[in-house]
Amino acid sequence: MSISQLQDQYRRGEITASAVLDQTYARIDSHDGEVKSFLFHTRALAYEIAGEVDARLAKGKTLPPLAGIPLGVKDNMHMSGEKTTCASKILENFQAPYDATVIARCKEALMLPIGKLNMDEFAMGSSTENSAFFPTRNPWDFSRVPGGSSGGSAASVAAGFVPLSLGSDTGGSIRQPAAFCGVTGLKPTYGRVSRYGLVAFASSLDQIGPLGRSVHDCAYLLDAISGHDARDATSANLPATQVVAHLAMSQKFLKIGIPRELIGPEIDDAVKACVESAIRWYEQQGHQIIWCDMASFSAAVATYYIIAPAEASANLSRYDGVRYGLRDKKADTLKTMIANTRGHGFGAEVKRRIILGTYVLSSGYYDAFYAKAQQVRSLITYEFQQAFQNVDVLLTPTAPTTAFAFGAHAQDPLAMYLADIATIPVNMAGLPALSLPCGFSDGLPVGMQIIGRAWDENTVMGLGHQFQLGTDYHTRVPAIGSVA
Ligand code: GLN
Repeated sequence: MSISQLQDQYRRGEITASAVLDQTYARIDSHDGEVKSFLFHTRALAYEIAGEVDARLAKGKTLPPLAGIPLGVKDNMHMSGEKTTCASKILENFQAPYDATVIARCKEALMLPIGKLNMDEFAMGSSTENSAFFPTRNPWDFSRVPGGSSGGSAASVAAGFVPLSLGSDTGGSIRQPAAFCGVTGLKPTYGRVSRYGLVAFASSLDQIGPLGRSVHDCAYLLDAISGHDARDATSANLPATQVVAHLAMSQKFLKIGIPRELIGPEIDDAVKACVESAIRWYEQQGHQIIWCDMASFSAAVATYYIIAPAEASANLSRYDGVRYGLRDKKADTLKTMIANTRGHGFGAEVKRRIILGTYVLSSGYYDAFYAKAQQVRSLITYEFQQAFQNVDVLLTPTAPTTAFAFGAHAQDPLAMYLADIATIPVNMAGLPALSLPCGFSDGLPVGMQIIGRAWDENTVMGLGHQFQLGTDYHTRVPAIGSVA
């Protein structure tokens, strides 16, 4: 059911929050053994909040729009008293000491937190294969990855376990799994949603956002989690968004830019065909299509894989066995304890990033790599600013391919990095971008990306919503999603 349908049923007294929870966990219990989207469940908390919702319903009180709506949460956001593992051995038994701001706001909205979702370790990866615990399967084809790093967030929505989930996006981690799993996901403008209580990967790029079955559903969650937070110094001093209200307004005619660089030979033919038919659809609705050149995009992936690891190497230095999580107890010196803890606690990809990041920040290499990357980052931002003088949004494929098979990139991490070509430039410039389903190839979903001006989630989501009013790609569900 969509959020509006659930709201209607609550309003008419046809369902109770506890019954919604019973059904949610029943479905998860029968199917998540195969999908493996959840790392663990937060039943006690969910039933406690459900009790509150039902008590208020019984008294005839009006409830916030998301009251009684189940929510899945990527396991890199703190939920007080529950674990936050980041799908890493080093935090396997770490208890969250407080609520992330997004979690506090979802609790205030009386959403029902179902559990914590699988991801690539510390959000580094594009497939969930880097989870220290197990990979998540794509509900459309169990032999394929769900994408990543928010693979659990996308798979849990695609499988019909939860209508909404929270993910985080540093270089594409909300949008690429949304594309691979046939769901909708938004990376908000940097600073739109508080990062307080989100475990840091690359702090200048990380942003939390919603995944759901439609733009309309995602808008509810964005409206609930956005808005200024004094606890995050990079949180913008702006009120919460009101995208749901905006979506009810009629769609304006827009100028849609198509970056030539992202519809070229790097993109699979089948993906290209779906995106091109979406472009024609928009043209038929009266929007103007404008081809543009974004030359700096070709340097974006290389730049990201300097800046993100550099920030990660600093952020992850706190896992030293002294203050958080795992500690090697056998070592007889402090140095060995730290080395053993980090050696055993971190997986291969996380180590690769720490080594890379430490290297590009080291004396003698800093100017050649890190400082230069910052300059290229400015160039990318500048090129977006120039483009947005002529167009209102940019439209691209979200990823060059559909979901790939497990192990496809196991021997070649660089190939996996290069597939971030369409999503990374957006994080570099801090812009909002949406991924939504725009077709299928061999039974696998294809996603397209709509990028907007900073703070212009309204336009981005409005345009996505228009597509979903006129097409049915987002309503299709994998076989596991059909309720018998
Ligand atoms: N795939 C990218 C990476 O591995 C993006 C990850 C993310 O957005 N968290 O870093």
